[in-house]
Parts: sequence; C-alpha cells; structure tokens
Amino acid sequence: MKYVLLIAVVGVVLWLMFGRGRRTEQVRQRETKRTAAGPVSMLQCAHCGVHLPKSDALFDAGGRPYCGEPHRLAGPRA
Ligand SMILES: [Zn+2]
Repeated sequence: MKYVLLIAVVGVVLWLMFGRGRRTEQVRQRETKRTAAGPVSMLQCAHCGVHLPKSDALFDAGGRPYCGEPHRLAGPRA
C-alpha cells in the first residue's frame, strides 16, 4: 500500500512537471512567433487620421495612406 501511494505521488509530480514544461514551451513558441512577425508599422489615414496597420492601408498615386477606398477617393483632408 505504501508503494502504491509512492507511485501515485511520483506520477503526479511527473505529470505536473511534464504539463508545465509543455505549457512553457507553447508560450515560448507563441512569443517567438510574435517576435518574428515584428512590430506592425502603423500609418495614419490622410483623410480622417485613423491609425491602421500598413498591410490594411490603401495608397493613392502620391503614396499617401488611407483607411479605405472611400477615403482614398475623397483624397487628403484639406
Ligand atoms: Zn480614413
């Protein structure tokens, strides 16, 4: 009976160590992925001034960023 308890305790300890180790590894991978992507460069819409990621921006012929097609067509705010 003493051995059964010992095995159970060792099993729980190993499970905790394995579980925590795996979770730490997942967090590390997630953070590495986030770091690899780098900070998203933000641009300001030339019409309404809203900030948006560079990948979502639309540009006019002059290279000015806009938040969407309506603002690109409207042009820069006077
Ligand atoms: Zn806009």
